[in-house]
Amino acid sequence: MLHRAVAFLWLCTLGLLTGGPEARAWSLQAVAELPAEVAAALPATDSIQAGRDQRQYYRLDRSGAGTQPEQQYLVLQRDRGQHLRLLGATGALVQELGPGAAPAPARPGVRGVALPLPADDGTVAALYVAIDSVLGVQPRLSVESGDQYYLRERSVGAYEVALASALLMLIMLSLAFSLILREPGYLVYVAFLVLMLMSILLRHPISFRLSHSSGLAPEQTAALGVLVSALAALASVTLLRAASGMGVLYPRGSRAMQWIALVGILFAMVDVATIRSHFHVAQWAFDGVNLCFGANAVLSAVLLLGTARAGGRTARLFLLGWTPMVLVGGWFSLGGLLGLAQAQNPHRWVMFACVLQGIGWAVALGDRALSLQRERDRARALAELDALTGLPNRRMLDRELAEARSGWLLICDLDSFKAVNDRYGHAVGDRCLVHFAQCLRESLAGAAVFGRYGGEEFLAIVPGGDLLQARVLAERLRERTASTPVFVGEDQHRLTVSIGIAELDPADPVYALGQADRAMYQAKAGGRNRVETAPAMG
Ligand code: GH3
Ligand code: MG
Ligand code: MG
Repeated sequence: MLHRAVAFLWLCTLGLLTGGPEARAWSLQAVAELPAEVAAALPATDSIQAGRDQRQYYRLDRSGAGTQPEQQYLVLQRDRGQHLRLLGATGALVQELGPGAAPAPARPGVRGVALPLPADDGTVAALYVAIDSVLGVQPRLSVESGDQYYLRERSVGAYEVALASALLMLIMLSLAFSLILREPGYLVYVAFLVLMLMSILLRHPISFRLSHSSGLAPEQTAALGVLVSALAALASVTLLRAASGMGVLYPRGSRAMQWIALVGILFAMVDVATIRSHFHVAQWAFDGVNLCFGANAVLSAVLLLGTARAGGRTARLFLLGWTPMVLVGGWFSLGGLLGLAQAQNPHRWVMFACVLQGIGWAVALGDRALSLQRERDRARALAELDALTGLPNRRMLDRELAEARSGWLLICDLDSFKAVNDRYGHAVGDRCLVHFAQCLRESLAGAAVFGRYGGEEFLAIVPGGDLLQARVLAERLRERTASTPVFVGEDQHRLTVSIGIAELDPADPVYALGQADRAMYQAKAGGRNRVETAPAMG
């Protein structure tokens, strides 16, 4: 079943990439200047806002096997909000577009293509051509004789498949990371990538075709893409706020970004809801979305710059990944509002910037996860190590003791330590404790887990082995302690230790603690600097 599905998909992809049958296909090509004789043949149009609007002329070539190429012209006007109006068409195209369509200029401020087309197949084809032009993908669509559309530019198909695969790969990797590291930040990142992928797919001609068959207007599909992009923007500012350090450094600014993104989402929702019935509202809402996008792009770049300058390494990586999207997003959203010239195919630019951003942010999040792991290790070390000797402290020893299955427990108590403090002072007492810790390392390293249990009392857990082996270890420690003096000025102080040994009972580790303690006191009573063993269990 699965391999059949894969084979089918593969054949479809191959079909798309090879371009399918080319016979009698229409293709649209942009031309810079409309020839005078063609312009004369066009119907008159309304006045155009100078400076803000941009007319585009498209030559329609009928090419293919057996037919002579003939040229038609389609005149489209792109306004400051990237909306396209059909201003006119020449020759046979006028008939093909239908009587109401060709010479009907849209009212100023009207959103969308606004073609008053009757809903038969031939004119819907023209509508798709125009819609694709709004989105800047016009050279890729061909209108076949049977009014079927298919992707024409093979390299573009391969390019988009490659970029979408890169995004999908990032999504899988991030999901794996979030599971392994248990980092919720990655899930926001995954949500962001999924939304980006969706918004890119929604702008693709294939989506327009699919949504048309399910009764959705092309403008609504485009608006849905805008809504999903607004949601992606919210996910991205949430991620930036949490993971780049910007939230700590600029709490107000980064919170403002989230509010702006939320307002953008509201605008986008109004845009989707009203696009069919109230064109004026939709135009206003669309401008609102663009304004929010642009404001967030600029604000986030400024805050990230500040965070990076304050020494944020992760912020610097985030900034690196964010830059292409800020440039492309700012260009299209603010540039659209200000009436700046726009690229022919914004969706390809956005997609490319999105993949760069996905990769940059994956690196930034990886870096962040590593530094968090380092901080966690350091925190654990601080919580479970003794500050003076660097040995495990009572907390860690209790954990080790609870987990111990079998073996031997050694309790070591320094002899007459109070006298050391009294004679040389506390600082020298401390040095003696550090010295004894070194004796422990030299005698027991590799053979036992050991640490400072409190005061001048140390504890060692010898896993496995018999009593003889435990005694040999204890004697080795006792001898080393007694034979290595601590220098105090001209003086040499000989430290001694009394050690009590008891067998570990996995069912009751505390019992061994009491037994070893008792054996240790026996060693004290026997004259100190000795090793004593608790009587066997049972
Ligand atoms: P013994 O065990 O041989 O019976 O005699 P002792 O003098 O060692 O007796 P005890 O265990 O009562 O004394 C422990 C002393 O250890 C008391 C305290 O001043 C000292 N001590 C505990 N913790 C520290 C520490 O962190 N630094 C220093 N310098 N002394 C400490
Ligand atoms: Mg003591
Ligand atoms: Mg003591």
